[in-house]
Amino acid sequence: MGSPPALENLYSELEALYQRLEEELTVLNPGCNGCGTCCKFSTFDHVLYASSIEVDFIKRNREIPDFNVTDNVCPFLKDNQCSIRDFRTLGCRIFYCNPSYKQILCEMYEKYYRMIKELGIKYDVSWRYLPFLNQLVRFKSTS
Ligand code: SF4
Ligand code: SF4
Repeated sequence: MGSPPALENLYSELEALYQRLEEELTVLNPGCNGCGTCCKFSTFDHVLYASSIEVDFIKRNREIPDFNVTDNVCPFLKDNQCSIRDFRTLGCRIFYCNPSYKQILCEMYEKYYRMIKELGIKYDVSWRYLPFLNQLVRFKSTS
């Protein structure tokens, strides 16, 4: 595991990657009306995967609420809005339901997935890639 200063650098690099992605997505503009349906995974028939680096980044910045994995709804969805927008995962950022953009968004996902994985290698942190809720459950608050 990296030392705390090294981890600070890891998360700074992750934020820079997210920023770069947002700039690419702004140019691409696949469109989203912010309905929040894709964060209700069963309703949308969608599985959101995430890396442990990204889930750890959320944990560093936000409390993980109590939730039931079986509900299959993201616990950060509040009033159909994401309550952790600045810290949301690659999969959250890059998912758009517009089918016209499916191919290009898949390619973009692969590119950023690789870059995040390389960060894990660079900073020597453990890597897991699993459904988001299955990763999040290890941190959930039970109070
Ligand atoms: S990507 Fe689609 S389903 Fe998800 S919030 Fe935007 S419009 Fe709604
Ligand atoms: S973190 Fe935010 S964008 Fe991602 S699934 Fe949860 S509510 Fe949706």
